[in-house]
Amino acid sequence: MRTLRLAILGSLLTLPATALAESHESAPEPYVAPVQGWMVAEKPTGVQTVRQVLPSTGVLAAAGQTIIYMNHVGTTLSPGDNDARTNRSTLVSQTTAVPAWSTTQAKWDQIMSCVRNMWAPFNVVVTDVDPGNVPHYESIVTTQPGVIGMDPNVGGVSPFTIGCNVIPNSIVFTFADAFGGDAETICEVVGQETAHSFGADHELLASDPMTYLQYNGLQSFKDQSVSCGEYQSRQCGLQGECGTNQNSYQFLMQRIGPAGTDTIPTVAITSPADGATVAPGFAVSASASDDGAVARVELWIDGALAETLSSAPFTFTTSPSLSAGAHQVETRAYDSGEQVGTAQITVQLSTSGGGGDGTGGNPDDPGAGGNPDDPSPSELVSGCSAGGGSGSSLGLLGLALVGLLARRRRA
Ligand SMILES: [Zn+2]
Repeated sequence: MRTLRLAILGSLLTLPATALAESHESAPEPYVAPVQGWMVAEKPTGVQTVRQVLPSTGVLAAAGQTIIYMNHVGTTLSPGDNDARTNRSTLVSQTTAVPAWSTTQAKWDQIMSCVRNMWAPFNVVVTDVDPGNVPHYESIVTTQPGVIGMDPNVGGVSPFTIGCNVIPNSIVFTFADAFGGDAETICEVVGQETAHSFGADHELLASDPMTYLQYNGLQSFKDQSVSCGEYQSRQCGLQGECGTNQNSYQFLMQRIGPAGTDTIPTVAITSPADGATVAPGFAVSASASDDGAVARVELWIDGALAETLSSAPFTFTTSPSLSAGAHQVETRAYDSGEQVGTAQITVQLSTSGGGGDGTGGNPDDPGAGGNPDDPSPSELVSGCSAGGGSGSSLGLLGLALVGLLARRRRA
């Protein structure tokens, strides 16, 4: 792969200057200050790959629990050092509106489950609710690379540093249209691009999301030491400075740490009391806590979601049209990792004193409605392993940009 390396080095030397001056079809105008260059390589298939090269950050481990924000609802980015908290990105050269990627809730749920599964071994929470002004990484799933001025054959992009460092609060992209909206492929691209921001390079293991090789099946970070490279073995790192081999699983474990330290939220219904007799339109108050933060609390009546509150006080008002009789009241508290804690009570709704009839209402069968054993997030994760044939080779050369492989379009 001599030519590839030469092309990379050549582009590293020459691109920064020309990219600013020319219309450059292959890469967006870089945010000048921190960007050292763009890595451009063309494969025999014509697939073009680009990497945005940043200087070392000196950071070798993520601080505390890592949050990955999966954003498909769009955002506005301004140029600057990567910071998901303030929506600044080295990948844009001007204030840029990034459009939402419209998809079905079912497909998005499938992608979220897949991404959560992929990162499950590590001390990571994956959320699709903007964490706001707390440290987090942002993985934007949008339509196509043109929205940030990149070539149509780009499938994904992440910054990557000299020295294979962590880029705190980095923002990475996956361009869903490039993969026909395929959930499994999008999940795998998200995995690779996000891992690039933790310093992981490409490696020659087809079953790993860091690969460039074709694979039929769902990729996952493998505890296996293999050569870095796209199609041929090379030293790891942009300049061969990161060692001979890479074990993506251990690499990420070292930088992020193991999962298991995040506790499930606790929630209690403080009012009404269990078994209480209540009037139509009664209020339900709950208290919730978590070792991290409570992301939201849901109220479920007889097994149906009635209301969601994203911040305290968690005081809900029930529908005045609930029928008389017994009702099951359940609250579900979620943390940023979508772990859920629940509490249930049963109340007797009395409509007497209200206006007349209605007393005969059918008492909802207590107990049958709300199943307190709502599935935990981990039990929900399964959708991604389904469509085995998507071929996960993801040619993201990019420690940054991924070329779009035509064969990866849904065949
Ligand atoms: Zn890559």
